Amino acid sequence: MSQQRTRTRGTVTVIGAGMAGLVAAYELERLGHRVEILEGSRRLGGRVRTHRFGAHEGAPFVELGAMRVPTAHHRTMDYIDRLGLGDQVRPFVTLLSEENALLATSGGHVRLRDAPRRLIADVRASLARDDYRDETVVFGAWLAAVVDAIAPPALRTGLRADLARDLLDRVERIDLTPHLRGDHKDRIDVHGLFAAHPDIRSACGTRLNGFLDDILTETSPELIRLACGMDQLVQRLAARIRGPIWLGQEVTGVEVAADQVRLRIGRGPLAVVRPADLVLCTVPFSVLRGMVLRGFDEDKLSVVREVVYCPATKVAVHVREPFWEREGIRGGASFSGGLIRQTYYPAAPEDGAPDAGERGAALLASYTIGEDADVLGRMPVRRRHRVVLDELARMHPQLTRRGMVRGVTGVAWGEHPWTVGGCTIRWGRDAAACEEERLRATRPQGRLFFAGEHCSSEPAWIEGAVESALVAVRAIEGRAGARFASGRGPEMWEAAA
Ligand SMILES: Cc1cc2nc3c(=O)[nH]c(=O)nc-3n(C[C@H](O)[C@H](O)[C@H](O)COP(=O)(O)OP(=O)(O)OC[C@H]3O[C@@H](n4cnc5c(N)ncnc54)[C@H](O)[C@@H]3O)c2cc1C
Repeated sequence: MSQQRTRTRGTVTVIGAGMAGLVAAYELERLGHRVEILEGSRRLGGRVRTHRFGAHEGAPFVELGAMRVPTAHHRTMDYIDRLGLGDQVRPFVTLLSEENALLATSGGHVRLRDAPRRLIADVRASLARDDYRDETVVFGAWLAAVVDAIAPPALRTGLRADLARDLLDRVERIDLTPHLRGDHKDRIDVHGLFAAHPDIRSACGTRLNGFLDDILTETSPELIRLACGMDQLVQRLAARIRGPIWLGQEVTGVEVAADQVRLRIGRGPLAVVRPADLVLCTVPFSVLRGMVLRGFDEDKLSVVREVVYCPATKVAVHVREPFWEREGIRGGASFSGGLIRQTYYPAAPEDGAPDAGERGAALLASYTIGEDADVLGRMPVRRRHRVVLDELARMHPQLTRRGMVRGVTGVAWGEHPWTVGGCTIRWGRDAAACEEERLRATRPQGRLFFAGEHCSSEPAWIEGAVESALVAVRAIEGRAGARFASGRGPEMWEAAA
């Protein structure tokens, strides 16, 4: 990058030090821009949040935000590689993969290995017709298990209606033999079946259909985790950024003027207004809509108001010992049902690694989304933790042993001041409507650009944050480059997008 080019460029002010803000800042600097980041909270990473129970090396940790990466998310995988984290990649064992994990059924919790008979009986009992082939009912049983485990209540009820209405009738006409699994052919590769017969998806209600990709991804075997914690992605990116990253700088107002963007920082009498040359805003729209916004056009204000967020709540427990390993659970997750919904176990120690010892072990006791997340998220923190521990103890009575629980923590992202939501959802909309919202969310206002998972085609994933950051960098580069060449700032957005 030539000296002249670097000097001619102004500073890009990035609002938010989550994955979108950090990736954008890193890439902008690589292109020769000066960058500063304003982060409202006192920590980096936003919704990538690894909680460590202790400051010592090897302290057990849980992921209170993002915890796994689909290997198909090439941009995220690429950064993992480029940031030197390739040797930390491990398979992420997900729901319905660990045979000794538990599954909530009408007859109480059963081990996954014993679950098929019960799941099949449950679905059969709920159907009006009793003449479906066994394999059709096996499909219904496992799809219901996946949806029950992951989806919020409305989608769970919706699936029952879909099964009764048309879904099973369509599946009844398909040869399921290639997709059946297990000695008794009482399991089914739901992913393979949907891939081979994509048309059956149209028998799912539109909201469920929109969520199905996420459900299938979350239960796919093609997921990885970082053995050192997802926060290392954040730390390594931040370490490569030369410009300042200011923490505790809450942006409370944004005014777009012809030749600058004015940012109001802080609240009350101590608030200051600062002009900025070019700004990239990565804060969730759920936060942005609470700010004083001036100089935005009507459509932009509408989309800022309209983007829908799905809450998520996680509660984690630090325990004296990994008692689940005595039950043969070596990672993966239980579908716990009740209020706590999903429980994720840490991967069993790698060969040669010391056992938990004094450090204890960490368990993601509860992961909920949608209305389930609201129920827990709106409880006072102590009550929420109590409720989760009580329910978890019904599934794992070892938790009640004296001295077993050392600590509890969690985040209700729907109530969290820097997110005010969990992640963007576009369920129930077709591909064209999703793309239209992405373009509206991303469209700049003068010198103000936008990124974040809500501005992407992969909302609710790190991949979306990264995708949006790279698109925004191209747009800023186009604008700054054009200004550099012509001395003016023509609108370059269409070309960049
Ligand atoms: C519970 C949960 C589980 C998830 N699981 C996964 C997963 O397994 N895999 C996956 O890939 N993705 C997962 N995601 C999604 C992923 O975490 C997000 O898509 C991604 O981290 C979003 O990055 P971002 O930069 O767009 O937003 P954020 O990470 O939210 O970053 C925005 C930043 O802006 C800051 N900010 C907010 N308001 C202000 C303000 N007024 N002034 C200044 N700064 C402000 C915030 O503090 C934050 O640091 C999960 C998310 C949640 C909540």
